[in-house]
Amino acid sequence: MESAQKHTIYDVIIAGAGPVGLFLACELALANCTVLLLEKAESPHSSLKQLPFGMRGLNTPSVEALYRRGLLEELEIPKRLKAPSFVSSKQGGRPQAGGHFAGIQFDSTQVDLSQWPYRLPGSPELQLFSELEELETVLTRRAEAVGVDIKRGLPTTGFQQSTDGVLVQAGGYAWQGKWLVGCDGGRSVVRKVGGFDFAGTEPEFTGYSAQVDITDPEQLKPGRILTPAGMYLQSQPGYLVLQDFDGGAFHDAKKPVTREHVQQVLRRISGTNVTISALHVASTWTDRARQATTYRNGRVLLAGDAAHIHAPLGGQGLNLGLGDALNLGWKLAATLREQAPVGLLDSYTAERHPIGAQVLDWSRAQATLMRPTPQTHALHAIIRDLMHTRDGATYFAGRVWGLSTHYHLEGAHPLVGYSVPNFEFEDGTTMGQLMRDGRGILLDFTQSDSLQTWTRAYGRQLKYVSGRATEQLGLQAILVRPDGIVAWAAAHPSDYHDLQHAAAQWFRSCLN
Ligand SMILES: Cc1cc2nc3c(=O)[nH]c(=O)nc-3n(C[C@H](O)[C@H](O)[C@H](O)COP(=O)(O)OP(=O)(O)OC[C@H]3O[C@@H](n4cnc5c(N)ncnc54)[C@H](O)[C@@H]3O)c2cc1C
Repeated sequence: MESAQKHTIYDVIIAGAGPVGLFLACELALANCTVLLLEKAESPHSSLKQLPFGMRGLNTPSVEALYRRGLLEELEIPKRLKAPSFVSSKQGGRPQAGGHFAGIQFDSTQVDLSQWPYRLPGSPELQLFSELEELETVLTRRAEAVGVDIKRGLPTTGFQQSTDGVLVQAGGYAWQGKWLVGCDGGRSVVRKVGGFDFAGTEPEFTGYSAQVDITDPEQLKPGRILTPAGMYLQSQPGYLVLQDFDGGAFHDAKKPVTREHVQQVLRRISGTNVTISALHVASTWTDRARQATTYRNGRVLLAGDAAHIHAPLGGQGLNLGLGDALNLGWKLAATLREQAPVGLLDSYTAERHPIGAQVLDWSRAQATLMRPTPQTHALHAIIRDLMHTRDGATYFAGRVWGLSTHYHLEGAHPLVGYSVPNFEFEDGTTMGQLMRDGRGILLDFTQSDSLQTWTRAYGRQLKYVSGRATEQLGLQAILVRPDGIVAWAAAHPSDYHDLQHAAAQWFRSCLN
């Protein structure tokens, strides 16, 4: 094995330049880490990453994350493909599809947004549709601009870790890094070589995404159709999604997806004699739901699909992975700079594992509710009725849009652990715009000299921002982590006593 660059020791080597690896690389480079990104595929292009198969729903935490790093405005496709919830929240009135659970849509006009009183008008969209290839292109451009070294056509095949680094093998070369992060997708080599336990449940179905020519499409019903044999959906003419409850056998057998096979599955599920005359693109997937029991093993970490897999029902995997990257980036950077308080890096697993487990259960519940049995269809009808109530729509919106997502942090104020509101200051600047440099913020609406002096003890980790916002939500000061999570909030001067304690969990004072 030849050493690729004898004298270069990267701070972080990332395996996998999918959306999660790219976003993590951007976060680390923003915090001045040197990053090598090793990608297996020679080309970043694939028809499965392009519309319509490459369509990905971005939820509120993802939209906010991209907005706060100045990436949202670089995406062109969301400007054309507004998600229905956004349209309806502006227009009111007619029912609007806000998202689905097991194929059942909830009406976004029924959602009671007063449940999220800290979400300010002028915040970025609640959800957007994006194209995976465009998202990766934008992230690649940013990663290169901030100095990430991206090498394609180099599959990571193994690594050895020691107490001070990791030697990574890829494409017949060896690369030296201080840390390795596996963002190499659901079949992650890093996870397997690293001996991570990947616990979970086996699939009930094989899912198909296929672009076909159909001779007699009028035989198929519009919309997502649950039948006694499975589910079919023709999202646009010739674009099919199928669920065949075969226990995942076809997918796991890794057989080629032929025209004859897709036609046979479609005929059986739809109960028709429909004819597929050509198959252009096809891929299969399952509802296998597994999660690494820890996201860290020494100097090796996992993020994105490498850490958790589940069915794409309701589209949550990308959002989960981007959330991992946002949570991990600043913590790993602080660890590298020796500015991390004790336990900071381990809080990555502690915070993200429960969020991942919730998404896996969300996916399992949907797969169960789509089983082709009379009993399940009866339960489906009851869930449908509940979703069509105001409380039901609000509950599902909170989960699907990600508005309910938060971390269980210590702190008395209800904002602690949640995403910081997008305050707008008198000069028109927004909170999100202030977060582009990826640093923590002590936001002070009272312009207090003592808070400004206090912030100085944290050097570059924290920046002090003072001013008046058009809506301050009854707050006096807030401590915000680099990932936009509120670590401490004060409504009264009497709340200031626990600022020091809250800050000590996330930042290291230069005075210590
Ligand atoms: C049909 C479908 C629809 C979906 N819809 C949604 C949606 O609407 N919303 C949503 O949030 N999610 C959705 N998802 C899930 C989402 O696409 C994934 O969760 C997301 O792409 C995961 O990103 P990732 O970077 O972790 O992994 P990947 O996107 O799988 O990227 C991994 C990268 O690692 C590379 N790689 C693999 N092995 C190696 C190796 N050994 N060495 C180096 N590189 C390697 C791969 O080539 C790839 O570039 C959907 C998925 C499917 C299948």
